Amino acid sequence: MSDTTTHIKNITVVGTGYVGLVSGTCLADIGHMITCVDVDTEKVANLQAGKIPIFEPGLERLVKHNVEAGRLQFTTSLADALPNSDVVFIAVGTPSAADGRADLQYVYAVADEIGRNLDHYVVVVDKSTVPVGTATEVEARIRANYAGEFDVASCPEFLREGCAIDDFFAPDRIVIGVRNDKAGDILSDVFEPVKGEKLITTVESAELIKYASNAFLATKISFINEIAQICERSGADIEEVAYGIGLDHRIGPKFLKAGIGWGGSCFPKDVVALDQMAGDSGYDFKLLKGVIEVNQEQRMHFIQKVRDTFSGSVSGKKFGVLGLAFKDNTDDIRESAAIDIIQQLLNDGAEVVAFDYQAKENAEKVLDGSIEYATQPQDVAHGADAVLVVTEWPEFKHLDWKVMRETMNTPILFDGRNLLKPSTMQEQGFEYYSIGR
Ligand code: NAD
Repeated sequence: MSDTTTHIKNITVVGTGYVGLVSGTCLADIGHMITCVDVDTEKVANLQAGKIPIFEPGLERLVKHNVEAGRLQFTTSLADALPNSDVVFIAVGTPSAADGRADLQYVYAVADEIGRNLDHYVVVVDKSTVPVGTATEVEARIRANYAGEFDVASCPEFLREGCAIDDFFAPDRIVIGVRNDKAGDILSDVFEPVKGEKLITTVESAELIKYASNAFLATKISFINEIAQICERSGADIEEVAYGIGLDHRIGPKFLKAGIGWGGSCFPKDVVALDQMAGDSGYDFKLLKGVIEVNQEQRMHFIQKVRDTFSGSVSGKKFGVLGLAFKDNTDDIRESAAIDIIQQLLNDGAEVVAFDYQAKENAEKVLDGSIEYATQPQDVAHGADAVLVVTEWPEFKHLDWKVMRETMNTPILFDGRNLLKPSTMQEQGFEYYSIGR
């Protein structure tokens, strides 16, 4: 165990995915001694060989630097990592169960394993997004196998894929949910070198802060998408309206981008889980139900716009699709609107050629040879009846759209992310459709 007179701690991070790998690496970078544990033997072998399993800007360099500095290592054995740990972060997945509730089997499996192997005081921290009450259950599971002293805390993660490292070093806040000062002091020490407000709360508040944050952001997006619907019916321009709203400091400009709705590994599952959590506590969260419904419909409106442009049927048409990831700067396709839209087009009998800067490999796993992949973004236009922009990679803005138009069968462009300027695209000869303008 580490010297208590310094801020440096021995930390085990369990789960080496987007959150665990980024957090573990950044915690190593601020001086802690980190062991990242994962059950995925291939992932761990790759990491030990210096291969990073995900795309996250800046991560590869930071992993290499901290491994070389001797502060970061990878293993499949939690039992080996535990004896030397002051703090254990649980950062495993919490996907949706069939009923929408968070599936906590991976978190509980880690808690059981900690209980079986613990022999000294540690702070066990839920970093995974987990419903209120999970820390209590984690505590009970460890207690079932270990009679000594330990604490369970909740430090939810707020990083955004694509800028996760910046988010670690410059967070809006660090939420530290604890049951006593001892655990609070240890975790305050862990995060001491990181700037930003450290908010000490109860464990339950910390658990709920995470869900409430994601649900509020999803609400902003669904709200602006509903305003976009009114824009389309009234001649207003959603970009002007969103800018005008966002100038109000009480509202702010962020998360007011109209488009094909929110997706990704967090919002969809967390918003549904919060709705379930509310129901379980005897409260019907009506607003959130609307937020979810609006988001589902937003993709359908986009697909319908495409169908309507081709007189109701896209069967036999060829579409060039720009984007596969759920957002720019990531290879993550979990709950990606792009994948959903491609699957709808295929179901309708259309042909698809797609391009993404990072997500092709992940998309291939779910789309199973049903589409073609272009090696350059501009190639999706070749012979296409329409091009669809469905992921907001900024690079798509700067393509030579004029040249692309010349290679298309018909110059129709659907911009699901309002990435391009309508007047410019029209001047370049496109029949251009976007959202709310
Ligand atoms: P992920 O699927 O990328 O990674 C989870 C990892 O946990 C996998 O590598 C898996 O092999 C490993 N794992 C599963 N069971 C294990 C066990 N018993 N022992 C050791 N390793 C085990 O997931 P993620 O995107 O990093 O998300 C992790 C958690 O963080 C989730 O609760 C998620 O909601 C939350 N979160 C994610 C993000 C994000 O942007 N991805 C942001 C904030 C919070």
